[in-house]
Amino acid sequence: MRMILVGPPGAGKGTQAARLVETYAIPHISTGDMFRAAVKAGTELGKRADEYMQQGALVPDSLVIDMVLERIQQPDCASGFMLDGFPRTTPQAQALDQALSAAGIELDAVVLIEVPDELIEDRIIHRRQDPETGAIYHLINNPPTDEAVRARLVHRKDDTAEACRARLEKYHAETAPIVPFYGAKGLLKRVDGVGSPDDVEVRIKAALA
Ligand code: AMP
Repeated sequence: MRMILVGPPGAGKGTQAARLVETYAIPHISTGDMFRAAVKAGTELGKRADEYMQQGALVPDSLVIDMVLERIQQPDCASGFMLDGFPRTTPQAQALDQALSAAGIELDAVVLIEVPDELIEDRIIHRRQDPETGAIYHLINNPPTDEAVRARLVHRKDDTAEACRARLEKYHAETAPIVPFYGAKGLLKRVDGVGSPDDVEVRIKAALA
């Protein structure tokens, strides 16, 4: 299974990706996670990406594209992969398309998780992550039951109301235009992202079946 998850910030891409990669036994390639790891490691790429991420801006295509094309050539991607958060611009989608065509590889599906803008800010502001397991929680709708997990939750630096608005704007301006690109290829599956993670997972699996 070679698939892409697309959706606005807070749509539940990370949560659903974690579930789907278990089902399909494929690597989860999240460009956001790759950049956060680079920031944490203090690499040159991390330093450059951090400036953009903190403002809710997109990291330049030139830094993202090579990183992903290199990643999907790794042996663990030979029989499939899940791209989460990439492509996010038309040049990224075109670069991926060219690289896959050159390698004679076809995508199986592009899942668009749709959530109305009005729900996004609440999801982002209350989003927390368990740094040990990567599990994502909502402080009100889906808090951890274990007190030890609750105590170690972290809030992403770019999960502020201001950065959220900037990211949502970027999503509509830069990322939404890739949706018709995949629609024209017959790969697009639109899924309603409103509801519990379990409900959304069922919808995605039904769309992929
Ligand atoms: P995410 O975890 O997917 O929400 O990504 C967090 C941040 O990383 C984004 O707001 C961007 O600053 C940056 N980022 C992640 N993926 C991309 C991408 N494909 N293109 C540009 N910037 C990205």
